Amino acid sequence: MFNLILFGPPGSGKGTQSEKLMARYHLRHLSTGDLLRSEISRQTALGVEAKKFMDKGQLVPDEVVIGMISTVLDEHKNATGFLFDGFPRTSAQAEALDKLLEFKQAPISVMLALEVSEDELVKRLLKRGQTSGRSDDTNEQVIRARIEEYRLKTEAVADYYRQFNKVVMVKGEGSIEEIFRNLCQVIDQKKKIVQELPEPL
Ligand code: AMP
Repeated sequence: MFNLILFGPPGSGKGTQSEKLMARYHLRHLSTGDLLRSEISRQTALGVEAKKFMDKGQLVPDEVVIGMISTVLDEHKNATGFLFDGFPRTSAQAEALDKLLEFKQAPISVMLALEVSEDELVKRLLKRGQTSGRSDDTNEQVIRARIEEYRLKTEAVADYYRQFNKVVMVKGEGSIEEIFRNLCQVIDQKKKIVQELPEPL
């Protein structure tokens, strides 16, 4: 099993690159943002609660998101690997994910962290807002709040994985194809290493 985290601030290209990576590596895409938006559109209790935070650009409480991920992991027991997009976003979520994956003996192989300047992020998100239908992409104040949440709570998640030597920084500016090639290069290298490891006894 090969599990990877695509990490980076809102607007860094996680969604775009996830689509391409999924197709190439046959990983199951797990985006907590998409899962939450699906809950909202189905007007579930979880969705109604989550929307209050999302509309303000704030993170949804850990227990809500962790519960959701746990359910999806259970539903896809035979997956060959997961691509986590937008999760984990806090240190508590990272620790919970490690515990969930421990049962599967399938730890995170690598965290790919996309680096993009703040001006570029705001520009991209406002542009995306013209077509995405996402209300949190149209209001610059909400966009700035999301970036602030990232700096305050999410950036530290990279430090959590850094202690296990699992973080690789990738430049998130340039053409989509160029960024994709750089991500693939890191993954191919890591996959080779994972395959060379002996099976656990
Ligand atoms: P995204 O689609 O990843 O940009 O997420 C959109 C919004 O969903 C975020 O601004 C948060 O309010 C919420 N959200 C998504 N993933 C998480 C997460 N892992 N933890 C907390 N909130 C999340």
